[in-house]
Order: sequence, then C-alpha cells, then structure tokens
Amino acid sequence: MKISKSCYAITGLSAETPWAVNSGFVVGDYSTLIIDTGSNYLSAQTIFGYSTGINQDNKCLVVNTEPHFDHIGGNSFFRERGIDIFAHPGIRRTQEIFNQNKEEFNRTIQNSVRQAANEAEAFFYNTILANPNKSAIQGDIISLGGIEAKIFETPGHTPFNISIFIEPDCVLYCGDCVVSEYLPNLEAGDQQDWINWLQAIDTIVSLDPVTIVPGHGRIIAGKRSIKVELERMRSILNTAIKDSKAPTL
Ligand SMILES: [Zn+2]
Repeated sequence: MKISKSCYAITGLSAETPWAVNSGFVVGDYSTLIIDTGSNYLSAQTIFGYSTGINQDNKCLVVNTEPHFDHIGGNSFFRERGIDIFAHPGIRRTQEIFNQNKEEFNRTIQNSVRQAANEAEAFFYNTILANPNKSAIQGDIISLGGIEAKIFETPGHTPFNISIFIEPDCVLYCGDCVVSEYLPNLEAGDQQDWINWLQAIDTIVSLDPVTIVPGHGRIIAGKRSIKVELERMRSILNTAIKDSKAPTL
C-alpha cells in the first residue's frame, strides 16, 4: 500500500506463526529502494512485482535492516538479477546457520504428517542464502533521484539493526527495532543490547516520524500512535533490563 508521496509498505508477508513480516519500498526518479526481502524466494518475487510496478524503468536497490532470515530470506532472488543489497557489514550469515534455520522451521510444523513430508521445503522453495554486497552504516545516504534514504544504526534487537528514514515524507522503516502489537523479540540479545535498544528508540523519537513501517505488525501511523507504541516498547525493555530476562523466556 502507498503510505506517502514516495513510500510504500508491503505488510503481512509469510513468516513463522504467529508472525507475519513486513517489507516496503521507496520510489525515486531513477531508483527504487526495497527495504527487506521477506522470509523466502516467493516473498521476494511478490516484493519485486509490486516495487517494479511504479516507475518501471527505475534501477532497483535493496537494503536489509538486520540479519534474521525473515528479513533476508529473499535476498538471492535479487542478487541473481545483479541487484545490489545494502546492509550493516555485521549481518553476514553462513549457509550452515541457514540450513539449521530451515530445520528448526520444519520442526515448528505441528501436523506430524506435514512435518514428516518436510513441508518447510515448500516454504523455502528455491531459497538460498545470499549475503548483502554493499555496506550501509550510520550517516550513509542512498540517493534515489529527488529523494534520499538516510541510514541510522538502531541496534538492540541485534547489534546490526539499521533503520531507513525518508525525511521529506517523515517515513521510517525500522525493521524489528519496533514491532507493533507483537511482543518484541529480545531473545537475540542481553541486558547491554536492551540498553542500546532504548537508545535506538531515542534516535527514532529524535527523527520525529509521522509513519513507521515496523518489522512486524500493522503500520504505525500518526504521532499519537507512534508515541503509544514506543512507550510500550520502552516499558517492555525496561522490565527486561530490570529482571535480566526477555519477556518471552
Ligand atoms: Zn523479524
């Protein structure tokens, strides 16, 4: 869906129950920047189809907000086409970890017949690991023609999370630094990561966005809704820091 003059969001892509994952794209005069590639090759096809429907002659670029596979799983679709993928250099994964992730995914299939049939292979059809080939760190700017994407490091969920701010439209794509309604996933980090995460939320407040496309859950539109969601995130993080325990453990 279109969320501002130049920005679009693709919500509800397949992930792991009960999670759906989001993607989005920003259309400039000569380039279109896709933010995150979904969990698998099939999601990437969908994202590519939507994003190339507008300014069809634009050069396509991709940025990953973090290293988890629900955000980078579709990368190979884009690299196969010679499309550059930007990300924090720390997000590189190995094929071994990716294979483990696929096996874990299969184990979450509740129906034993489906699990025995290894239906994760259908989910991960044609999906292979492809790491980003370009760096995106704090202060970097990706020019799209008439509009720029500014990169902010917003660590916490992982040490390598980045957010992409489209200043003229006041739109922030922040990956899992903010999730709406879901409990945020704190399990990948420890107390220090969660303290860093609080600072990342301060960074978001300082940018003063009007619309946030979170990594998961509905789009957060309007300053009042953003304030409520950021306070919810802060409260969960503060409790976790105090108890030294992620809320889901
Ligand atoms: Zn995620």
